[in-house]
Amino acid sequence: MNTTEQLAVDREHLWHPYTSTINPLPVYPVASAHGVTLVLEDGTELIDGMSSWWAVVHGYNHPVLNQALTTQAAAMSHVMFGGLTHRPAVELAEQLLSILPTTMQKLFYCDSGSVAVEVAMKMAIQYWQAVGNTDKYQFATIRSGYHGDTWNAMSVCDPVTGMHGIFAKALPIQHFIPAPTTPFAGEWNSSDIEPLRNLLETYHQTIAAFILEPIVQGAGGMRFYAPEYLRQASELCKEYNVLLIVDEIATGFGRTGKWFAVEHAAIQPDIMCVGKALTGGYLSMAVTATSTAIANQICSGEASCFMHGPTFMANPLTCAVATASIKLLKSSDWQANVKRIESQLQQQLAPARAIEGVVDVRVLGAIGVIEVDRPVDMAFMQRRFVEEGVWVRPFGKLIYLMPPFIITEAELTTLTSALLCVIQSIDKKEYNV
Ligand SMILES: *Cc1c(COP(=O)(O)O)cnc(C)c1O
Repeated sequence: MNTTEQLAVDREHLWHPYTSTINPLPVYPVASAHGVTLVLEDGTELIDGMSSWWAVVHGYNHPVLNQALTTQAAAMSHVMFGGLTHRPAVELAEQLLSILPTTMQKLFYCDSGSVAVEVAMKMAIQYWQAVGNTDKYQFATIRSGYHGDTWNAMSVCDPVTGMHGIFAKALPIQHFIPAPTTPFAGEWNSSDIEPLRNLLETYHQTIAAFILEPIVQGAGGMRFYAPEYLRQASELCKEYNVLLIVDEIATGFGRTGKWFAVEHAAIQPDIMCVGKALTGGYLSMAVTATSTAIANQICSGEASCFMHGPTFMANPLTCAVATASIKLLKSSDWQANVKRIESQLQQQLAPARAIEGVVDVRVLGAIGVIEVDRPVDMAFMQRRFVEEGVWVRPFGKLIYLMPPFIITEAELTTLTSALLCVIQSIDKKEYNV
């Protein structure tokens, strides 16, 4: 099948993320990928600024991760996890326990980030049932959040940028409070915590858990907020007997400059979700972790166990590649890399502040964001980026970079130059007003 035929079948039959079947956005056929380079079918090489949505921290086609997969495939690709266990699952546990917050002692392996969030929410409900408190079945969260596309995950996504408009009637009703306004390094505005305090004061008896993305709100707005908010939120949750669920699916494994973003606030959550970069971007897997006390409480309830068990739980291939990815991070100087990327992004994106239409430029760890004053035309921008030799996928008013940690100074310069060039050159008429 040649590329034209491939694209025709794709256009006719394949759904892409958040895409129309009537008027699909153009897609670019990728033939292979290595390091930070995507190679298109026609030989065009693009420097990747997305890490395939936070995941590919070591770059593509990494020999160590490839080896982990082929070695494991030669032994077994899958066995059920009910009544059986295996070395890849146990070795991954060992690696995770060595980096997760110390209270996170019980690990539940799941298929994807959204499922990990569902699992976290189910844990919270089962926990309160087991405690004997059946009134606690609602969730609270901050606006501008994103927690995935499945049902209950969707119910705690931002009601405006999320999918509430369409699904509102069918979704469980949760509590939304304003997101903190103090930026990551800004001076703490103590009124930021008031909405949470007021909410918990009024509704704590019906709230099972408070769920949020620690420090960085990803797909809901690419916002970076003050660690002090997280610290005080954690205390309020304890004070009001509400569990704290942190969704580290985007922030985990070094992206913000720490192994996990909760470390910026030195808090210990009750339940924690990780995913995305867990397997170095090779396969879909996520983990929901909790404390021994919470796990044991859940299992002393009516069901005597936690009520969840996916078919592909602890798939040995995903476990093996995740273990190899964590080891690879440990043996690399990822912290220095993320620092280097952070200072380069700060320096090279700063000039964007002077461009008409740009309202904010912000950088944290290996994440750089340019926010413009109106939604951009994604198809147009993507084509311009491809012409500039880079892969960047903006959404809404946000044009952002989160490159693999192995990116070189020169490659990152190509990315930031392309960003400035494209944002500068777009005639405001070409924005999608
Ligand atoms: C991507 C993401 C999810 C959902 O993960 P999937 O693997 O796409 O289901 C949940 N929470 C956050 C913070 C995410 O960034």
